[in-house]
Amino acid sequence: MDKLIKVQNLIKEFPIHKGFFNKKVGAVHAINNISIDIYKGETLGLVGESGCGKSTTGRCILGLEKPTSGTILFDGIDTNNCDADQKKELKKRMQIIFQNPYSSLNPRMTIGDTLKEPVAIHKHMSKSEIDTNIKKLLDVAGLPSTVLNKYPHEFSGGQRQRVGIARALVLTPEFIVADEPVSALDVSIQAQIINLLQDLKEELSLTYLFISHDLSVVKYISDRVAVMYLGEIVELAASEELFNSPKHPYTQALLSAIPVPDPNNNESKRILLAGDIPSPANPPQGCKFHTRCKYVMDICKKEIPPTYRVQDNHQAACYLLKDA
Ligand code: SF4
Repeated sequence: MDKLIKVQNLIKEFPIHKGFFNKKVGAVHAINNISIDIYKGETLGLVGESGCGKSTTGRCILGLEKPTSGTILFDGIDTNNCDADQKKELKKRMQIIFQNPYSSLNPRMTIGDTLKEPVAIHKHMSKSEIDTNIKKLLDVAGLPSTVLNKYPHEFSGGQRQRVGIARALVLTPEFIVADEPVSALDVSIQAQIINLLQDLKEELSLTYLFISHDLSVVKYISDRVAVMYLGEIVELAASEELFNSPKHPYTQALLSAIPVPDPNNNESKRILLAGDIPSPANPPQGCKFHTRCKYVMDICKKEIPPTYRVQDNHQAACYLLKDA
């Protein structure tokens, strides 16, 4: 498959300032040197605990956060070193679906105005062309055209997320970052939205970066899955491969926490991690996971483990895989 996005050595730090003179006293290391490719037409799942850098990664790719260093290429265009016209073009080609559909919609704008605004800015269309396009879009998102004159507060959570999806699609993007798109929704509605995202991907040939802490959802929707811990990608594999044969101790612990819907199944034993996730303002040396890993060795505390390729479609950063 062709690469749509190439992230190379991405680092993002947020400075910590203190005192009357706003002096810089440190930094939150949100993303620590990650490199990853996203292929055209795939859904790449990005999982990990809250605060591990998933959303910051998505926001850097979209240009909503400026990386501290590293490069992001979208279809060969360096997103942080391109001219104003290219930036405008990129804005159309990349979109985001937010976690909370209510707070991401302007409560004072009707759904019609919310959807028409970006088209009016970015596309040269007549009023009737815009109206026809918006009606088609609502149909795709499973909403009746009667919603156009309504306000966000008049909808349920699921309907609002459909509006959020319609808004993300209004400029006909190729790539969408779905940032926890179902975690604010009722379980019964989650499946509808996930199925809608799947259908849209096929129909419109979209590429997704699907960010979630819900492993069951990620397993269902993703072609490949990247696992993040404290700003680093610790494991990356094809979805089935990762869920059947996780290699990194952190991934193994995460997967062991997925509930099994069979009370007689005693095979899956939950792996409890010791301690809390360390502060990204003061991350540990060496392997970031060493403070919680039951296999920790001396070298893990001193040196960052390299990424070992265990199969064509599977890699992980752990010294245990050195001779695998
Ligand atoms: Fe554990 Fe060491 Fe592997 Fe890190 S490198 S996950 S500390 S065994």
